[in-house]
Amino acid sequence: MDLQHLNEQQREAALHTEGPLLILAGAGSGKTQTMTHRIAYLIEQGVSPYEILAVTFTNKAAGEMRQRVEKLVGRCPGMWILTFHSMSLRILRENYEAAGYAKNFVVYDTVDQKALIKNILKEQNIDQKLYPIPYLLSIISKEKEADRGPEEYIELEGGLQGANIKSRTVYQVYREYQKQLKNNNAMDFDDLLRNAYHVLRDHDEILAAYQNRFAYIMVDEYQDTNHIQYQIISLLARARQNLCVVGDDDQCIYEWRGADIRNILDFEKDFPQAKVIKLEQNYRSTGNILAAAHSVIRNNRGRKQKKLWTEQEEGHKLVYARLENDKEEAAYVVRQIRLLEGAHRDYDDFAILYRTNAQSRLFEDALRRAGIPYQILSGFSFYERKETKDMISYMRLVVNPQDEMAFMRVINEPKRGIGEKTVDKLRALAHVRGQSLLALLGDEEVLAGLPAKAREPVREMVQAIELCASEAANLTIADIYDTLLARTGYMKALEDQHTTEADARVENLLDFRSFIYDFESEKKAAGEEATLAEFLEKVATDADADKYESESGKVTLMTLHSAKGLEFPVVFMPGMEDGLFPGHRSLDSEDRMEEERRLCYVGMTRAKERLFLTSAEYRVLYGQGNFTRESAFMRELDKSLLDANGDTVYTPKRRAAGSLGVDTGSMDGFARPAYKPYDPLRYAKQAVREKAAAGAAGDDGLEAGDSVQHSKFGRGLVLETDEKTVTVIFDSVGRKKLARGIAQLKKI
Ligand code: ATP
Ligand code: MG
Repeated sequence: MDLQHLNEQQREAALHTEGPLLILAGAGSGKTQTMTHRIAYLIEQGVSPYEILAVTFTNKAAGEMRQRVEKLVGRCPGMWILTFHSMSLRILRENYEAAGYAKNFVVYDTVDQKALIKNILKEQNIDQKLYPIPYLLSIISKEKEADRGPEEYIELEGGLQGANIKSRTVYQVYREYQKQLKNNNAMDFDDLLRNAYHVLRDHDEILAAYQNRFAYIMVDEYQDTNHIQYQIISLLARARQNLCVVGDDDQCIYEWRGADIRNILDFEKDFPQAKVIKLEQNYRSTGNILAAAHSVIRNNRGRKQKKLWTEQEEGHKLVYARLENDKEEAAYVVRQIRLLEGAHRDYDDFAILYRTNAQSRLFEDALRRAGIPYQILSGFSFYERKETKDMISYMRLVVNPQDEMAFMRVINEPKRGIGEKTVDKLRALAHVRGQSLLALLGDEEVLAGLPAKAREPVREMVQAIELCASEAANLTIADIYDTLLARTGYMKALEDQHTTEADARVENLLDFRSFIYDFESEKKAAGEEATLAEFLEKVATDADADKYESESGKVTLMTLHSAKGLEFPVVFMPGMEDGLFPGHRSLDSEDRMEEERRLCYVGMTRAKERLFLTSAEYRVLYGQGNFTRESAFMRELDKSLLDANGDTVYTPKRRAAGSLGVDTGSMDGFARPAYKPYDPLRYAKQAVREKAAAGAAGDDGLEAGDSVQHSKFGRGLVLETDEKTVTVIFDSVGRKKLARGIAQLKKI
């Protein structure tokens, strides 16, 4: 194994394969790189990839790590490189019975969770104003992170008798919430971790099997593990002690979500045999950037003292600009991108990292107007779109007809004339009969009881879902998606509105479609079969940073939180203002202030060559305009590292761009033709319409002897046909009987 391009400490870490190991090091010192080489080294020493478990923080980081390992040692099927959530999901899929669930359990995200709580509040006559949904969900989440169920919760609050009314109400909601999740064969995100932990803790034979399998366990970004994640890892590693954790106490940014920095600081206590290796050379950033980051983070108490050094040159100084208002700030950033891009940089060299999602819109507007391609990687914006959620619900019903939340979400989407009262009645009936809502509405008698105008649309919807479910094995995911889009009437309802908003939604739906295509073609390229269940899992577990693709030539916008572990040549950190960054709630708490400071450190150390900090004198946030004060972090930062022209209010009229320390060599950046995105919209719409037409016509004109092309199975020959089915013999998979009415066969 060629460990030549590791430095001495890194090499030592890669070679230390037996026994516990803590790599504690600052940003950009090659922690992730070392971990990757360590895995490759193990495999080269004859360890089976099957015996390796590597846990990272985002699916994106996991994918990258796998790629790097496979580049070094070739393909490694069976190796688990994944996030805590997807690892838990896998363990639960493999042991759903031990967890007390049925096979195709689903994962609820925030939107589902909210809907479920809302229902419960309604059923139990609890006032939402007194008990806001986000408040309840955050308590429930905190309790689960601390591994406390409803009973443990109320116990701690003084028992059912002793607790105050508020705690009793929370208890009541929490208990019902868990009950209904279970009834729906569903888990929320926190349940994934908690249930996986319980399965391992309570089932010796299951735990032993995993302990036996995973001879080598590694965890990246260990500083951000929470209590349960820690428990899972220590159970798995207990038997063999071959655990390597990698982290930086200065980058712990998830305390608010239960991350426990003590996990890293106490590692030596928990594993007394542990070897500790520190990495101190930074390979990512120039000297000035590194010094600036250090000048901020050194204000935190309670950190392990360490200072990074670099062999790199000092590089450009940092640029700080204070603009008149937030719009000017966005315009300024876009201007700098233009200038630097003119000086031979690619768009994907740039990242704009902000504190809150609410800041993204102005940058989006400014970039769009300038014709600069960009991508947003945080805030679940994509998945939280209503239309995406609706279609995901339809797909979930195909996989799991019992999914009541999904059903209630879409029964009247598009409008089918089913009111809330009807839904309540149907639900009650379904519960009495012990049927799923979908099965219930498959019953003609029940259908007949619906308002007349609702009958036909509901029948079509139920049929579309059932058709997709029964034919799932013969369809690509994209086929299923298109069929649902067309045959539930969803897309048509939007198109018929003829409003810009509805058009935008249609666009989003088709955007989602290309996302599905990407997923399937990736799987296909890897020689794997892509199933709908798997796709839905991906959708449910995708962390925000996952949509990031570096080859796409786009400016990246994301929150500071999701930028963890990534690096970019040029980084912008806008909104350096008290109340925004650090946030309001942090200003009066030293602990929170320290967490924000670590976040600032994370942001600054993402930059390789250039770092721009900006603030606005006047900012509108959530509809409120305010004059601002510069961030405390700007006051802490070593001013000698700033470009001499920084620190003043900049307006295009008053100052020349060149005075800000920007390469002005090639001003022709301004003259570039506007970026015109390729627009495949029209074709996609057409394809979906064809699916609808096939369903309506019911007859595809196929006869025995026809040669056909199938979206999943490729070329084939029609053997026989009848009213409902077409039998085809395919070159690839042999004989198949396919349902008619879904346009997956084309005559050739
Ligand atoms: P973070 O704390 O941000 O997660 P990290 O410690 O995981 O950072 P890496 O992402 O592994 O750091 O490495 C940072 C950069 O330094 C990468 O571009 C990597 O390729 C490079 N690098 C790491 N080690 C070396 C080395 N020994 N020689 C040259 N380049 C290196
Ligand atoms: Mg890293």
